[in-house]
Amino acid sequence: MMRRTLTLLGATGSIGDSTLDVVARHPGRFTVAALAAHRNDAKLLALCRRFRPRVAALADADAAQALARAVAAESLPTRVVSGAEGLVEVAALPDVDTVLAAIVGAAGLPATLAAARAGKRILLANKEALVIGGALFMDAVAASGATILPIDSEHNAVFQCLPAGYARRPDAAGVRRILLTASGGPFHPHPEVDFTTVTPAQACAHPNWSMGRKISVDSATMMNKGLEVIEARWLFGLSPAQIDIVVHRQSIVHSLVEYVDGSVLAQLSNPDMRTPIAQALGAPERLGSGATPLDLAQLATLTFEPPDRARFPCIGLAYAALAADAAAPVALNAANEIAVDAFLNGRARFCDIPRACETVLAARTLSEIATLDDALAADAEAREIARSVLGIADRPRGNSAARTAHP
Ligand code: NAD
Ligand code: MG
Repeated sequence: MMRRTLTLLGATGSIGDSTLDVVARHPGRFTVAALAAHRNDAKLLALCRRFRPRVAALADADAAQALARAVAAESLPTRVVSGAEGLVEVAALPDVDTVLAAIVGAAGLPATLAAARAGKRILLANKEALVIGGALFMDAVAASGATILPIDSEHNAVFQCLPAGYARRPDAAGVRRILLTASGGPFHPHPEVDFTTVTPAQACAHPNWSMGRKISVDSATMMNKGLEVIEARWLFGLSPAQIDIVVHRQSIVHSLVEYVDGSVLAQLSNPDMRTPIAQALGAPERLGSGATPLDLAQLATLTFEPPDRARFPCIGLAYAALAADAAAPVALNAANEIAVDAFLNGRARFCDIPRACETVLAARTLSEIATLDDALAADAEAREIARSVLGIADRPRGNSAARTAHP
């Protein structure tokens, strides 16, 4: 039995909750060395009481001060660090072997990249970091000998359906293509829904998964699937033509791998993120996750249909970005983050999200990416254009550009 020492980036979020639930089911197997989050000091304090990490990091300096006072008052064995440097520090602690990357958005890139450079075993949920980091991120992984285990349920499914050792070269294993399944979110099955009047509550009411608000909106626009196509391109080194999408409303089949001999392998489970998290935490051994076992006879019906690309233009925008230059996926992700934030704060309509992304892709000027600074510049330019397209001049609060979090 392999013992693991963990850092959890995004410990207070939905993926953080699911991960700590699995960890708590296996006492003695995992040591939680560090927990990191944005600014929820009350929740991080509760987690420090329960898991007694050596270090806790909050990106927000005021929240970190409040946590430090509380930790001292309770004589907990936890040192509190803050800011972008604090996140990078806990991502690269020498005694940590495994880093769960579950910060949402571009804000997670610097710490996730630090884990890659430090050669960690990275359990990757933060898909936006890979969409932005792209080749630079994968080069850092290769150079340091880091490994990536995908947590995103679709990529975890593909990973499980590939022979061991072939995750980075599926062509050599005889893979013809992969099929990413998409639930379609709350709106794909309902063509009558008017995208000019959809509310954040409606967009976040996912039929199968309970997740953070940003990824819930991404599921509703199906930008989530677009980002996942880009994520798959980097994780598995496939060409975009080898990555397809099929709508599967039940979220039981989490993705499929088609081989040249005609075989198609799939991974099935109930929609519970604890299953992919437990797979990645334990690999190559299997761990109990707390997920309810699958009862196929009770489910009875699994359906598959093509995505409606006309109603959900974000899918096409993601493929177009992959076919364009290296900066296009960075710009697409940045524009989407700004537009989703504006939608969630009542400053944009649901239908403005794809519109803003398309305008930004057409209007951006930066296209070359040779360094991380180039990627961050493309990210910043796209955010500026998106804000002006949406008519929101001031910077959004909190979870903004990766540039502000760059060490
Ligand atoms: P969430 O909103 O529930 O949690 C986000 C976490 O990130 C929180 O702990 C928050 O404190 C932290 N965070 C946000 N901004 C930060 C900043 N600037 N600095 C430091 N920490 C910051 O989101 P989630 O649903 O847990 O999703 C996390 C990531 O996992 C996303 O990239 C998402 O796409 C991916 N993912 C989530 C699910 C899911 O089921 N929730 C499934 C697949 C992939
Ligand atoms: Mg997913």
